[in-house]
Amino acid sequence: MKYYAPKGLNDITPDDMPYWHAVESEVRATMPVYGYEEIRTPMMEKTEVFARGVGEETDVVEKEMYTFDDKGGRSMTLRPENTASVVRAYLEHKYYGKEELSKWYYLGPMFRYEAPQKGRSRQFHQYGAEAIGSNDPALDAEMINLATDILTSLGLNEVGLSLNSIGCPDDREEYIEELVEYLNPFKEELCEDCQARLETNPLRILDCKNQACSSIVEDGPEITDYLCSECRDHFKNVKKYLDQLNLSYTMDPNLVRGLDYYTKTVFEVFSSDLGAQDALVGGGRYDGLVELFGGDPTPAVGFAGGIERLVLLLEELEGVELKKRELDVYLATLDRETKRRGLKLVQRLRNSGFKTEIDYLEKSLQGQLGYADRYGADVTAILGPQELSEDEITLRDMETGEQTLVPLSDFTEKVKNLLESE
Ligand SMILES: [Zn+2]
Ligand SMILES: [Zn+2]
Repeated sequence: MKYYAPKGLNDITPDDMPYWHAVESEVRATMPVYGYEEIRTPMMEKTEVFARGVGEETDVVEKEMYTFDDKGGRSMTLRPENTASVVRAYLEHKYYGKEELSKWYYLGPMFRYEAPQKGRSRQFHQYGAEAIGSNDPALDAEMINLATDILTSLGLNEVGLSLNSIGCPDDREEYIEELVEYLNPFKEELCEDCQARLETNPLRILDCKNQACSSIVEDGPEITDYLCSECRDHFKNVKKYLDQLNLSYTMDPNLVRGLDYYTKTVFEVFSSDLGAQDALVGGGRYDGLVELFGGDPTPAVGFAGGIERLVLLLEELEGVELKKRELDVYLATLDRETKRRGLKLVQRLRNSGFKTEIDYLEKSLQGQLGYADRYGADVTAILGPQELSEDEITLRDMETGEQTLVPLSDFTEKVKNLLESE
C-alpha cells in the first residue's frame, strides 16, 4: 500500500453507503414536507464569513478551521458549518426582497481540524435547516419538530430534547455579570480553558465538559431567571407549542451558545437508543446574525445535525430498514453469442427500471447462479445456445426454483409479471 487517505478524512465505502442513503433520503423527503427548499453554498468562503458568522472567540474559529491563502493571496476557509454561508447567500441574492420567510435546508461536507475520534472526522457531514424572516415562537417549535421527525422516521425510538433560552444580548449582559461574580471565587478550581473563558467568553464555561467546572456551575445562577419580559414570553410560547405537538423536553440551564447574535431558544436533540445520550442535532435562534452580516435586523432560527454520528447509531441499531445493492434480475449467458444477445435484453430491462446484471467474470452457469443469489436477484434469466436458436429464454424464480421457458418476444413482459407476483 502506497497511499492512504489523509488523517481524519474518511472514505464512505459502498458497505456504509446504505446507511448514508437512508439518512440522506429521509432528509430530502422530510424537509419539503415542512416547506424547506434546498440551498447549496460553496465548500469554501472568504475567511471573514466564518470569523464573523461563527464568532472569533469560538474553538471552531480559533483552532479548528482549514484556512489557507489561495493563489491570489486571499484568505480562504473550508466551511466548518453552514449557517454563516446560508446567511451570506440569503443577503447576496436579496431573498429578503423576494420572500417574507425563507425556509431552506442543506446537506453536505464540512471541515474542522479536530483530533479524529469515533464519530468525529475532519471532513464530516451535516444536514440542517434555516428559516429566515420570522420571530414567531411557533417556528422554533416547528424546527424542533422537523429535527426530531427526521430521527424518529429513521427508526430511532428514544429521541429526547434539551431546551433552554439564552434571551437577548441585554439579558445576557446582566446574566454574565452575575455569572462572573459567582465564578470569580472559584477561579483557581476551573480548568485552564475556563480560566481564560472567564475573561473572554464566560458563557462557554457553562458547557465545559470538565468535571470540576460543571460541578461549580451547577450551583450558579441560571440564565432563564434573567430574561426580559419579551424573551420570557417567547420562551413560554415555544414550550406551549411543543406541548401542543406532544414533544416533551428537559430544561437544560447549561445549554448555551456564547455569541451575541444567538438569541432566545437553544435546543439539542439526542438519542438514548444505545444507552448513553448522544446529541445528534443542535439548533436555536440567531436573530442577530443577518444584521451582523450587513442586512436589516431579521429574525432567524435553525438547526444542524451530524450524519457520521447518526450513521454509527443506525449501524448498531437493529430494525433499521436499508436498501442494499439488490438485483431484480440476473441474466446468465453461456457463450459469446448468447452474451451478445443478452446485453441487449439487459439494456431493455434496465430501460424498464429493473436492476439487472450480467456476467463480466466468465463464470460458469453454476457460478453465475451463485452470483445472482448473493446479490438477491428475484429472477434469473438463462440464455443458452439451445434457447437462443429457438428464440426462447428460461426464467428461474429464485425463491421457488421454478423454471419456465418463454418466447424472447415476451421476455420483458414475463419478467415483469414474475417480479410483480413476488
Ligand atoms: Zn430579552
Ligand atoms: Zn472548564
